[in-house]
Amino acid sequence: MLKIGFVGWRGMVGSVLMERMRQENDFKGYEPTFFTTSNIGGKGPDIGLEIPPLKDAHDIRALAVQDIIVTCQGGDYTKQMYPGMMKNGWKGFWIDSASALRMEDNVIIVLDPVNRPVIDSGLSSGIKTFVGGNCTVSLMLMALDGLFAQDQIEWLSTMTYQAASGAGANNMRELVAQMAMLGKASAPLLDDPASSAIEIDALITGELRKTSFPIEYFGAPLAASLIPWIDKAMESGQTREEWKGYAETNKILQTKKPIPVDGVCVRIGAMRCHSQGFTIKLKKDIPIDEVSEMIQSANQWVKLVPNDKESTLRNLTPAAVNGTLTVPVGRLRKMNIGPEYITAFSVGDQLLWGAAEPIRRILNIVIDYLS
Ligand code: NAP
Repeated sequence: MLKIGFVGWRGMVGSVLMERMRQENDFKGYEPTFFTTSNIGGKGPDIGLEIPPLKDAHDIRALAVQDIIVTCQGGDYTKQMYPGMMKNGWKGFWIDSASALRMEDNVIIVLDPVNRPVIDSGLSSGIKTFVGGNCTVSLMLMALDGLFAQDQIEWLSTMTYQAASGAGANNMRELVAQMAMLGKASAPLLDDPASSAIEIDALITGELRKTSFPIEYFGAPLAASLIPWIDKAMESGQTREEWKGYAETNKILQTKKPIPVDGVCVRIGAMRCHSQGFTIKLKKDIPIDEVSEMIQSANQWVKLVPNDKESTLRNLTPAAVNGTLTVPVGRLRKMNIGPEYITAFSVGDQLLWGAAEPIRRILNIVIDYLS
């Protein structure tokens, strides 16, 4: 029976992964072992089976007996443990949600609805390290799968509206704490029907600028504001999040001629859905109904939303998409820049398709491959 070790199962990505695996009844046909960096001997997750106490995630011998290791622990852990495992001649499969290994040779970035042929050819050529992609890139590729699959994109610019969850659990809490502070401060004015919106605005601005406003994790107010900077600076003037658009898209698709992808990545006050506005230059003028058909028919999760107000408000918002695997694409139209230019907008749950779901699915693909 295959032995599968899970590290990082109680973090944000890990707990969404556990939830999805329980929903899909995935914990069967192998021997799971759960690891921890903080609670050795403690109790593992409820997976509906008897499981042994938690093992030490730094115990290389306990890890080395696993046929597959799935880690959602983070890049520091990967950098600490992966090289040693490889140096010791471990022959198992390493499945990882962190970015640490993504751009290494002999590593495939997984998003199987989009790059299953790349995964299959990697497996048959002996690749054993599979890593989930950047959340924004994965959601963009799920949304525009049809246009990529039919090689219709000359270049793509994506302007993002990214949720707090992408920055981590503490950031999600900080966003809500900021909202709560604003709510509390404005309650008396909101309760007073005679107060004006301008008065409320002045009060909110005052709160946002107070030194006591909670910005420990974001570094700036996010509630009632936004932050047009995600991750580290690159020499190109991009942020690292923006740099990943080009680097990861082309690595995921293993394009022969790289497709230019660039844009501005912005943090907004959504909880766990990233949104993106696309400007796409097609290789040729294609009627919009054909573009719609390509997008709609690409995979079972993408859902074309008619370009009208009612459908957009009902289907194309983080509030509507949160917690679902649906990737709606709407606001689709030709731009007045020229007939080859189209624009569209998409929303996706960044903890599902952006993080846990590609990991859950590659685990099943590897299990099938080994069976
Ligand atoms: P996280 O929530 O910080 O969890 C990572 C680990 O922190 C847990 O496995 C847990 O390890 C430990 N931990 C300490 N205190 C905790 C607490 N109070 N609750 C839960 N866990 C706690 O990390 P994450 O956001 O899931 O990210 C994991 C990796 O996935 C990172 O490399 C990240 O870059 C990548 N990723 C994240 C996202 C995202 O949206 N967040 C998207 C794609 C990829 P122990 O059980 O061993 O203590």
